Amino acid sequence: MKEAAATIYVNDICDIVKRYHRFLITAHVRADGDAIGSEIALYYALKDMGKSVSIVNDSAVPQVYRFIVPNGGIYIYPELPKEEAEVVFALDCPTLDRLGKTRECIPKDAKIINIDHHISNENFGNINIVTDDVCATGEILLSILKEMKVKISSDIATALYVAIMTDTGRFTHTNTTPEALRAAAFLIECGARHNEVTKNVYNTNSFNQIQLNAHVLNTVKLHFENRIATVWVTKEMLEKTRVDAIDTQELADIPISIEGVYVGVLLREMTQPNWVKVSMRSRNGFDVNNIAKKFGGGGHKYAAGCEIQGSILEVQKLILVELEKGLLQKK
Ligand code: 5GP
Ligand code: MN
Repeated sequence: MKEAAATIYVNDICDIVKRYHRFLITAHVRADGDAIGSEIALYYALKDMGKSVSIVNDSAVPQVYRFIVPNGGIYIYPELPKEEAEVVFALDCPTLDRLGKTRECIPKDAKIINIDHHISNENFGNINIVTDDVCATGEILLSILKEMKVKISSDIATALYVAIMTDTGRFTHTNTTPEALRAAAFLIECGARHNEVTKNVYNTNSFNQIQLNAHVLNTVKLHFENRIATVWVTKEMLEKTRVDAIDTQELADIPISIEGVYVGVLLREMTQPNWVKVSMRSRNGFDVNNIAKKFGGGGHKYAAGCEIQGSILEVQKLILVELEKGLLQKK
């Protein structure tokens, strides 16, 4: 985020942080590395100021991020902290609905501070710090904490490093700007344990996970002159390999890695019967956010998602129709 913009809002946040004592931090459903890293960094920053802070999420923390979860943990709805918060930070979350069930635990009178980098953010907070020209919510948070003169401890730096590294796809996506790399370098200077991060997030798979990958790779299909690739995960595969649904987020990177493919699609059967979670990744200027929006979802130009009712094959058909229309317009 541009330094000038950060300053305007930081005064408001500083006032609120000074004035109030009880804080709740939350993020979007099925929280990813950016959401969880940002939550944990802010948790440590507020704790260091002597505040009472809890993190509450709709869904469990994926296995690969558990090594940064603070002692005392993260509340997963319906488990809730006893105290009512005065201030709620919503991180990496474009709409109130995307908070999932944690939306229900926001006290009526609480001030909401919305910090996010999704284009589709609806500015639902009392204070909104939203910009889409940064790689991750963690990058915005770092600017804010620096402006607030917060000491970036190695725990804060490690959590923010997770946020930036995962949302840039290990510094490979088009959002890997000089600012993103400078932020990562600064975090390492502050003591971010980057080797521990890469080991846990990318270089450690359970045997079960590898078996699941084998099942998923067997489902790969090419469509529309090999411009679209799909893979899917069924509940049966998860049961067979005993992998948690929350630990399947990275599978979206497989189909888009195929040479010549413009759009990669991961289809996952949801716990809710007859609903499918769709994750799309794209390149070469093809905007999947627009496709996701047609189904009530959203995200970014090159990474977006939505939830659609139907079987995997029915949902695949619906998505392919829209993707093919989009690709034809691009030709
Ligand atoms: P993923 O495909 O990994 O779930 O998400 C990719 C991006 O799209 C993330 O920024 C995520 O927040 C966003 N996204 C995924 N699913 C949805 C959805 O159902 N609704 C909205 N608004 N955004 C989504
Ligand atoms: Mn993000």
